Amino acid sequence: MPRHSVTLIPGDGVGPEICEASTRVLEATGVEFDWDIQQAGENVMAEHGTPLPKHVLDSIRRTGVALKGPITTPVGTGFRSVNVALRQELELYACVRPIKAYEGARNLRDDLDFVIIRENSEDIYAGIEFERGTPDCDRLLSEISQLSGKRIQPDSGLSIKPISVSGSERIVQYAFDYARQYHRRKVTLVHKANIMKHTDGLFLAVGREVAQRNSDLQFEDRIVDNMCMQLVLRPTEYDVLCCPNLYGDIISDLGAGMIGGLGLAPGANIGVNGAVFEATHGSAPKYTGQNKVNPMAVMLSGVLLLRHLQEVEAGDALESAIAGVIAEGRSLTYDLKADRNDPTAVGTSQVADAIIERLEAAA
Ligand code: NAD
Repeated sequence: MPRHSVTLIPGDGVGPEICEASTRVLEATGVEFDWDIQQAGENVMAEHGTPLPKHVLDSIRRTGVALKGPITTPVGTGFRSVNVALRQELELYACVRPIKAYEGARNLRDDLDFVIIRENSEDIYAGIEFERGTPDCDRLLSEISQLSGKRIQPDSGLSIKPISVSGSERIVQYAFDYARQYHRRKVTLVHKANIMKHTDGLFLAVGREVAQRNSDLQFEDRIVDNMCMQLVLRPTEYDVLCCPNLYGDIISDLGAGMIGGLGLAPGANIGVNGAVFEATHGSAPKYTGQNKVNPMAVMLSGVLLLRHLQEVEAGDALESAIAGVIAEGRSLTYDLKADRNDPTAVGTSQVADAIIERLEAAA
């Protein structure tokens, strides 16, 4: 079996402990890794003058794949989110978030199995913003008023929402490719084209064109507000959802809530210059160093990583070991318990021990 070079970014907050638990279970599958450990975030600012040093990006460009813990974005310091910067620098344009109900988890219902493909680089998340009252904002406000013939309140701030033909084409094609690779049947494009004709409308029009070239799979579209209701009422009718950035962000958390919370919501950011696997959740700073939070979202991101590396059998084995531990219900962290103060909840590292025990028993 080949060894795999993988960049490991432990992150901060609870990141290092959940990454340690996750690398232990990944190694217990028998797949061999050379971890290139790289630090990013506020803690490296003093030494490197940036929260995302060039050598971290170079490592991912070299290995092509990273497992990443969450990284805190300090409020009010002016530095960009490392997580967003990483996606932009490496052009990680597709965020993949499977929503799958595991037996024994606190699911809304037990037959949930759909995947959210979120566009990662455009939309209101592009970070093009103008602060209320600044000369640039005032200039833009008057320019827009002139061009559109509509008056905007002079005390407004502005966030710009660009959606391009090329960006839309790339993400919708990715959604079809993903559906085909993972034996799914349908892509549903999510939008608000009835209101935002030149951004969401463009996304939908391009999506329809791409669908014509992928006619072996079903295609449909849903307006985002209806999509949210449909997911709660009739989730099994949906398979792969393809969303612009903001709706993908919101629907991801809706989905995470449907399967018992952020502790079970994995993710992958796939792009031109590599793939970064990370949980949907953040660094939960109040639990740092307490061996308390659920490592399963990072572990399930590790399952996606294994499949990405073509280690499909190992990925399946790890997923079924995690599912077994959830179904058994003995070695679960507080967030998977009905009562968050349940004294039978175990810690982060005990979850890893229980999963490793299952992997070893199945081997
Ligand atoms: P968060 O996801 O860190 O935590 C919110 C709450 O969810 C926690 O207090 C905890 O109760 C629960 N939670 C989260 N992960 C859990 C786990 N694995 N097990 C059990 N419970 C869990 O969200 P936040 O508090 O909004 O963000 C904290 C920091 O993380 C912020 O600085 C934010 O910018 C950053 N963040 C980073 C990423 C990333 O690295 N990709 C993603 C989201 C947020």
